[in-house]
Amino acid sequence: MTIDTIAPAQARQWTFLDKQSGDPVSFTCMPGCVIRHDIVDADQKKHPADIMCWTSPNGAPHLPVDSRGVPEDVSVLSAHIEVKPLATSMSDRLPHVNLEIVEDQYIVGLDPDSLAMVIGVLAERLDALRRTRADLVRLRAEYLGKAAPEGVSR
Ligand SMILES: [Zn+2]
Repeated sequence: MTIDTIAPAQARQWTFLDKQSGDPVSFTCMPGCVIRHDIVDADQKKHPADIMCWTSPNGAPHLPVDSRGVPEDVSVLSAHIEVKPLATSMSDRLPHVNLEIVEDQYIVGLDPDSLAMVIGVLAERLDALRRTRADLVRLRAEYLGKAAPEGVSR
């Protein structure tokens, strides 16, 4: 799912209780966020820095990765957009991407057809990352109160 496939931003406001002061604190949810703030945050005691909004991951293809001598199906190059509206770091308050990468893990014994299949999955992942980048550019522009720059396409 990408953000531009979701209905236009609805200014969803949520209120939680500051864990230290007990005071109610409100925040505006990021467009495209899939977090159930009504369940995990609303009217609960939270540290403001722990409040976060996430989009759905940009797809989750799995490959048989061998990290312990036995192949296990794991997702590769999965990304989602996150914002922490009340974080102490200003960079966390703007939408940014979290990309899940695999290190020191292998897909072993690939014949030409298997390698072609892996190449196809990775090519699809690159396309998904390009779409996520375009969503991120649009979302950050929205956060900064600007129109998306010309030439940003999917
Ligand atoms: Zn949210």
